[in-house]
Amino acid sequence: MKQRNIALVAHDNKKKELVDWAVAKAELMAEIGIFATGTTGRLIEDAMKRPVNRLLSGPLGGDQQIGAKIAEGEIDLLIFFWDPLEPQPHDPDIKALLRIAALYNIPVACNKASADYMIHSPLLHGDYVPDEPDFSDYTLRKTPIDK
Ligand code: PGA
Repeated sequence: MKQRNIALVAHDNKKKELVDWAVAKAELMAEIGIFATGTTGRLIEDAMKRPVNRLLSGPLGGDQQIGAKIAEGEIDLLIFFWDPLEPQPHDPDIKALLRIAALYNIPVACNKASADYMIHSPLLHGDYVPDEPDFSDYTLRKTPIDK
């Protein structure tokens, strides 16, 4: 079975919650690869004492890098503790990341309870393969320039 990869992202006010959560769930993630935005990744790596694929910091393009990895089929689960109480400078990137996750049928947890449900799911640890969306209607569509 292909190794699963999880992406972890937390806004500043949510970083402690995500780091504590990741440490508590370390055993369940032992066989799962971890990707994270820059600062979240550094904190997770230090706290979990395991390697993390660290991307750029979110506001510097890290959210978009995770989105690209989702589009390329590299991410199986997104745990994204975004802050519902504070505006972020990279709000369009956040929206784009959530959109691309929805488009590619990637499970997203935006808070601890949903992350708990997902990380404990037997589907995550079994051989479940989510449906891959079929975009052929879109990619084969006629545009105004097509005859
Ligand atoms: P950070 O980025 O982990 O580099 O803080 C998170 C984000 O704001 O998207």
